[in-house]
Amino acid sequence: MIATFNLVMNSTIQSFICPHLLALKAYSSARSEFKGKADVFLDANENTIQTQYNRYPDPLQGVLKNKIASLAGRQASELFLGNGSDEAIDLLLRLFCVSGQDAIITMPPTYGMYAVSAQIANVQNIQIPLDENFQPQVDKVLAAQTTNTKLLFICSPNNPTGNNIQVEYIEALIEGFDGIVVIDEAYIHFSEQASCLQYLDRYEHVVILQTFSKAWGLAGLRLGMAWGSASLIEWINKIKAPYNINTCTQETALQVLEQPKRLTKDVQTILQERTQLKTTLANFPIVQKVHPSAANFLLFEVTNADELYQYLTEKGIVIRNRSRVYGCANCLRVTIGTSSEQARLLEALEVYATQVV
Ligand SMILES: *Cc1c(COP(=O)(O)O)cnc(C)c1O
Repeated sequence: MIATFNLVMNSTIQSFICPHLLALKAYSSARSEFKGKADVFLDANENTIQTQYNRYPDPLQGVLKNKIASLAGRQASELFLGNGSDEAIDLLLRLFCVSGQDAIITMPPTYGMYAVSAQIANVQNIQIPLDENFQPQVDKVLAAQTTNTKLLFICSPNNPTGNNIQVEYIEALIEGFDGIVVIDEAYIHFSEQASCLQYLDRYEHVVILQTFSKAWGLAGLRLGMAWGSASLIEWINKIKAPYNINTCTQETALQVLEQPKRLTKDVQTILQERTQLKTTLANFPIVQKVHPSAANFLLFEVTNADELYQYLTEKGIVIRNRSRVYGCANCLRVTIGTSSEQARLLEALEVYATQVV
């Protein structure tokens, strides 16, 4: 039963790939051609006098992928690692969307990189806004489909709004979209809603993006994940740069994965700080609304976002002014910081609030 289903979907994936890539013969790196056992490597024009970082990294990051996959209860063949999940977004666009012809669907307000990557790839971005509760308008999204809409981006928890996208909407979009559904879970560790990884068992046209940049606290390493069916991941690997994850990143990520408690502890601390900041912010008369958050930031509405943003920058505090983003008039987005950073922010807000009144 499942085998038949997979077979049908396999050909579906193939049918979404850009036609000019179907015959691509991927670059074969020096290390990937050799499968035997050896201890003298003179195949890659490296400087063999040096001993640190002188060798090219594993092009497919085998050790690291095995570790990540086993922690997630998935197969390493279902995992692509990128230079941040931003690399995965770019590669998905190049894999599925023909420049000047195809389109993606996004649901603003959402993460800005989908639109930027689409524009760079000369791919149309069809925008179907989220509703007043920041939930998808499923019927409108599905009605916007054409034979050229190859990717649908769902961000849950969503950036910059912070809310989860409800499971029933995610499922309806997966069921109804005739293309690849990309679910961006950059903030999933801060959410009580379960990850969508389990959908990989049922659907071959689903891709899940995750990252080491947020809860794992490794934004500087640049390491992002795309989970998908093994056949889809194989296609991404075909078009990626041969050595896209450097040795230092692979080694450091492996070390951090050996301390899984670090993640749970940090998440716990950040969630406590989030609850506290939310309450304190809501008590300021200049704060009209603090939006519910399932992420490590809060979106809040004030009487004059530009003025407050400017005031805070003058005090050396930088937050994100989202007031010109669709659906976010007079809204600012603040990352949950340490308690001393939080104190600095609140101190400045108090002075500002007395000046405004
Ligand atoms: C921060 C963020 C990312 C992460 O990007 P990286 O390239 O992995 O650092 C992806 N998606 C969303 C929605 C984000 O907010």
